[in-house]
Amino acid sequence: MRILVTGGAGFLGSHLCDRLLSEGHDVTCLDNFFTGRQHNVAHLVGRPGFRIVSHDVTDPYSFDVDRIYNLACPASPPHYQFDPVKTMKTSVLGALNCLDLAKQTGARVFQASTSEVYGDPDVHPQPESYKGNVNPIGIRACYDEGKRCAETLFFDYHRHHGVPIRVARIFNTYGPRMLPDDGRVVSNFIVQALRGENLTLYGDGTQTRSFCYVNDLIEGFVRLMEHPELTGPVNLGNPGEFTMLQLAELVLAKVGGPSCVTHLPLPGDDPKQRQPEITLARRELGWEPSVPLAEGLDVTIRHFRTLLGL
Ligand code: NAD
Ligand code: UDP
Repeated sequence: MRILVTGGAGFLGSHLCDRLLSEGHDVTCLDNFFTGRQHNVAHLVGRPGFRIVSHDVTDPYSFDVDRIYNLACPASPPHYQFDPVKTMKTSVLGALNCLDLAKQTGARVFQASTSEVYGDPDVHPQPESYKGNVNPIGIRACYDEGKRCAETLFFDYHRHHGVPIRVARIFNTYGPRMLPDDGRVVSNFIVQALRGENLTLYGDGTQTRSFCYVNDLIEGFVRLMEHPELTGPVNLGNPGEFTMLQLAELVLAKVGGPSCVTHLPLPGDDPKQRQPEITLARRELGWEPSVPLAEGLDVTIRHFRTLLGL
């Protein structure tokens, strides 16, 4: 198939391009390189069927394609808060532009939505039926509300124009090719520990997240996209739940060295808990994460050690 991956030079996008090319598809990687990097896909350049297009998804684009994976959007809080208006435009105009292309071409279109649509959840773990608790005027709203609006557009294009959609709600995912200065907790802690710096734990560290290794997630993407009819939304994530203090202790134990934990203020609207309920993905996609956090961290630590020469 001819497959377009927006945000294809980013962390998840580059792993998805790897996977799709390995299956023999033609892959167009479209990116504006805000948080994506050429070197994430440099190993694919020159491979038959692969091309990179430098483009911003807030401007319309046109390709003859069978599948569209819409991943373009900064995902780390510091990056999406850097220019919040741009983040909202990327989510909303980016969704409109890929849906218009899907409408014109008949392509099936996948949206990389997020557990952030649940906000600071008061239902735990979070099933797809939970409607969420998002602060519409807080510092995370540009991302959370942008992604919620994108989901609305996906379902309206589906209902009104018959566009075949697949919506995944992704929970915290980590692995090689996250930026070392990405700002997300896994890369921050690993890079800090490798550099012998103290780990920046925000708040008291009792807030929880559930971390999925990137390869598991990409398997879920492909299974959802190729499901004959399931539109979603479908939660994709690893139900293993950890406090941020537990994560810090795990990273410290693995990396060793002089680092310890230093407490910094908790950012506004930081969700207190997050854990995916994945019954739907298990039942409909036969999907389940297989890489435990301790194992995925080892691979990610090795990646950053090599990258940073530490
Ligand atoms: P990332 O920041 O590494 O990748 C995002 C990519 O989109 C980058 O390559 C960036 O340059 C590109 N991009 C940003 N704005 C763009 C624009 N206007 N036009 C074209 N390209 C643009 O983040 P990621 O972790 O790979 O996330 C990919 C997608 O998955 C995002 O949509 C994100 O919201 C979603 N997601 C990720 C996670 C996670 O834990 N990694 C969790 C939930 C949702
Ligand atoms: N966090 C932290 N130290 C850091 C970065 C993040 O303690 O250096 C915390 C953050 O406050 C949040 C959790 O780790 O409670 C996950 O943060 P991340 O930015 O990775 O993802 P998100 O909050 O979007 O789930």
